[in-house]
Amino acid sequence: FLSFTTIEEKNIKLAYYDYESVLRFELSNHLQKALERKELFLCYQPLVCLRTGEMISSEALLRWEHPKLGPISPARFIPVAEEMGFIQEIGAWVLNSACKQTKAWQLKGMHQLGVCVNVSAKQFLNPSFLDEVKLALKVSGLEAQYLTLELTESTMFQNLDESIDIMKALRNTGINVSIDDFGTGYSSLSYLKYLPINSLKIDQAFVNSLQATPIDTAIVKAIITMGEVLSVDIVAEGVETKVQADLLRELNCQYAQGYYIKKPLIADEFEVFAQQLIMS
Ligand code: C2E
Ligand code: MG
Ligand code: MG
Ligand code: MG
Repeated sequence: FLSFTTIEEKNIKLAYYDYESVLRFELSNHLQKALERKELFLCYQPLVCLRTGEMISSEALLRWEHPKLGPISPARFIPVAEEMGFIQEIGAWVLNSACKQTKAWQLKGMHQLGVCVNVSAKQFLNPSFLDEVKLALKVSGLEAQYLTLELTESTMFQNLDESIDIMKALRNTGINVSIDDFGTGYSSLSYLKYLPINSLKIDQAFVNSLQATPIDTAIVKAIITMGEVLSVDIVAEGVETKVQADLLRELNCQYAQGYYIKKPLIADEFEVFAQQLIMS
């Protein structure tokens, strides 16, 4: 019986790997054409100030609607894009689209609205990255202060010295830099003082277990206190309930993003949501 389950497990594993490799093949084949076919688009999720409820920015989140496979998560296809060398092109498209869209919204009355754009490691460490970002700003007319680039700890730690240089160069042009998914990578709190960042986003795993686990509450508290000392803005990601939002506000966390506030929206829906905020 035992050996039977082992064989069965093996088969399931094999089938799983086959499926995985077929899917990867399918994704990498189609990704190249996805941009041209306009299968890629951006959703925007509000970031709000916990004290005033004011929306300060959105995060641009990439979406791929595959004609046969349906919606595919960016967590799934971004790594494929990186591997296949498409990330440059896709990343540049994301930057340009997000900057253009945000400038258009500013002209429609959301004067102070900013935008956060996720940047992958290969994109960030490419020598032409800084020029690409500057070009996106120039073409769109968006001022640098309204753009925030989100990097993960693992991106920065691939080459810390070089990363710090690039971050400094970005900061010199007025662009904001943020650490995404903070607390899940290998950086210790003490590293924060060396990083030229404007903000950091507490990973949703900690936010999720706020209150439920005292240790996670303590971690969130420590990150917020550290942020205060270093003058780094703290954003809590993945805020799903009122209880979490209230607790974060009590802990002096400045900004929040999550389903409790709003799910990521297509541009038209985001605009309606933002206009309602302005009117109210
Ligand atoms: P991220 O940058 O940490 O983005 C936050 C993710 O959490 C998004 O998933 C968002 O939809 C989701 N989220 C927001 N609020 C909640 C909540 O209250 N509860 C839960 N459970 N989830 C919430 P999404 O859109 O699937 O993106 C996944 C990841 O893919 C992003 O994580 C980011 O690392 C990457 N990504 C997305 N767009 C881009 C892009 O344009 N370029 C690059 N390089 N990576 C991107
Ligand atoms: Mg992000
Ligand atoms: Mg995140
Ligand atoms: Mg993430």
